Amino acid sequence: MGDPSTGDGPAPEAASGFAGTPDAFERLWVPHRMVYVGGEGKPADADAGPQCPFCRAQDAPDADGLVVARGEECFVVLNLYPYNPGHLLVCPYRHVASYTDLTESETVEVARMTRTAMRVLTEVSAPHGMNLGMNQGEVAGAGIAAHLHQHVVPRWGGDANFLPVVARTKAVPQLLADTRGLLAAAWPAPDRTQP
Ligand SMILES: [Zn+2]
Repeated sequence: MGDPSTGDGPAPEAASGFAGTPDAFERLWVPHRMVYVGGEGKPADADAGPQCPFCRAQDAPDADGLVVARGEECFVVLNLYPYNPGHLLVCPYRHVASYTDLTESETVEVARMTRTAMRVLTEVSAPHGMNLGMNQGEVAGAGIAAHLHQHVVPRWGGDANFLPVVARTKAVPQLLADTRGLLAAAWPAPDRTQP
């Protein structure tokens, strides 16, 4: 872990200075998010396979892909660019864009894993509330519109402060790999992955 000013990684900051109740997540600066803000490395929407981050994540080892849980037809992955620590995405394995593309069983599993994600986040980090939802289409705010993903975003009172506006960055999570480990360890069978 290094000084962010030297570019070799974010430095931990005391969680006491941030909004919300202290929890299992420690806060870090995540200046790498600015890469995302700038749109670098964003895949073309139609591309599946290695061009799609959700197709790539599901094919990677769990820890490398930040995969938290794997169901029969859907999986849960940590958002690489979280709005808050523990920001999860529930995705079908299939590279489909629209909620209306889902089969009956995929629809049920997205719902079931969303519910479990809420339970796991509550157990691990006791958020005060959550946002759930899907952005359908780029015009509606989907970053990766071609591969459906349901957001599960834990919220704490006062978490939407001035930093995202002023600094275009956020005071957010501990290392994503550590967050993944905490959530994977708390995830129940049968979708459990190796923490
Ligand atoms: Zn995909």
